Amino acid sequence: MTTTHMPVAREAPARRAPENTPFDPTAWQQILQMVRQQHPALHRVWFDQLVPRQLTNGVIQVKVGTAAQLNFCQGQCQQPFTAAAQAVIGRLVAVSFHCENLPHGGVYSDSDQPMPLNPDYVFENFVTGPCNRLPHAACVAVAEQPGKAYNPLFIHGGVGLGKTHLLQAVCQKVLEREPAARIMYLSCDSFINQFMVAVETGEMHQFRYRYRQADMLVIDDIHFLARRERTQEEFFHTFNTLYQNHKQIILSADCPPSEIPELEERLVSRFNWGLVARIEKPCYETRMAILQKKAKLRGLSLPDDVVSYIAAKVENNTRELEGAIIKVQGVAMLQGGKIDLDLAKSALGDSVIPDQKRISIQQILDAVTKYYNVRLADLQSDKRHKSIAFPRQVCMYLARQHTSYSLGEIGGYFGGRDHTTVLYAVRKVTDRLKDKPDVAGQVAFMENQLTG
Ligand code: ADP
Ligand code: MG
Repeated sequence: MTTTHMPVAREAPARRAPENTPFDPTAWQQILQMVRQQHPALHRVWFDQLVPRQLTNGVIQVKVGTAAQLNFCQGQCQQPFTAAAQAVIGRLVAVSFHCENLPHGGVYSDSDQPMPLNPDYVFENFVTGPCNRLPHAACVAVAEQPGKAYNPLFIHGGVGLGKTHLLQAVCQKVLEREPAARIMYLSCDSFINQFMVAVETGEMHQFRYRYRQADMLVIDDIHFLARRERTQEEFFHTFNTLYQNHKQIILSADCPPSEIPELEERLVSRFNWGLVARIEKPCYETRMAILQKKAKLRGLSLPDDVVSYIAAKVENNTRELEGAIIKVQGVAMLQGGKIDLDLAKSALGDSVIPDQKRISIQQILDAVTKYYNVRLADLQSDKRHKSIAFPRQVCMYLARQHTSYSLGEIGGYFGGRDHTTVLYAVRKVTDRLKDKPDVAGQVAFMENQLTG
């Protein structure tokens, strides 16, 4: 019988842990603790299941359970974990995440780039209530029997009500069962962009092949097909091919098929072939349950009175519920205190979460016309010159951020423009805010005036 000998150190043990040995569990706990404290919004309960493997060449290799968790870790956690590891170990190390059982079919979006799925967006984390029971049940059924239950499945509802969450939950469920499934999951924007690139570069053949050989096609925010005649034409053929081959198609939009502006009749009728299910705003009880679920996911315990307080205060959009939790958590950490009602109230004071109905469109119009020195009549006219069009877009953006009017209602204030125009404006201004500091400054100035 042979025995394997560990290499024996020639000298007394060094102060530093030797390389290639399993990573010290105590140090790992300290790293987790530090990440939790310094990046409360990032923390997830499943961090407890991360397995630090070893320290090799200055890199701590960490094993992650699923592909979606890997996306999350690689996308958002590398830096925070590396900083924490350096602080704990006291030397220059990095943290690197790996996953052993990656799906080999996978989810694709842009030109064969795997689409990052959000590990939070799974069925287990989705709370059902009267507002979403049907769309949820339909998604579960489709995930169990793609191409059979409802095809196509069309989910619609307002911003932040869980459409993307449900779509990704289906993808993750299917991949969990069939790692080899070829799922195309993408936003309508990417579909449009890829189509335009394919047309320009004469690569339509590859484009068609890629889509038409998918096992499942999932397109988020399909209302962006509005007025895109040529993309609609192409999408029509993609749809038909997949449908005839009994491949599952899932679409989401902010309105039902018939209300997408200038969508070809034949697409409207196809979108109605399967099941069209609407997500409504969550009621009070559902909002409480969502808050509890989100808090649990982040390893946070929220007292009942805090949950009721936030649920009552944040009514319109589920995304804002999560934002509220993060704020409360952040303030609690800063003050080193525990979360109670007083702390929640001060964290979410009116200045933090703007009272949705306090600012009127009129105030926005006043602020914008004054700032850009334009006339109200021009904003409401058809004029498309940049000097008018941009202030008009800023108005729409501010109205979207600070009032509870729907996209259609906001469009109504600006010469009867429809909701896609408003959406486009909101996106454009949002993009500018990111890459143009002067615009960010202008908008911040007007917002300050508005929120007083
Ligand atoms: P949409 O795509 O409709 O704009 P998202 O799917 O992006 O909305 O949802 C916004 C946020 O709200 C996400 O963090 C999502 O997890 C959460 N959310 C929405 N509905 C629910 C629900 N029923 N249960 C749990 N979380 C939800
Ligand atoms: Mg979405």
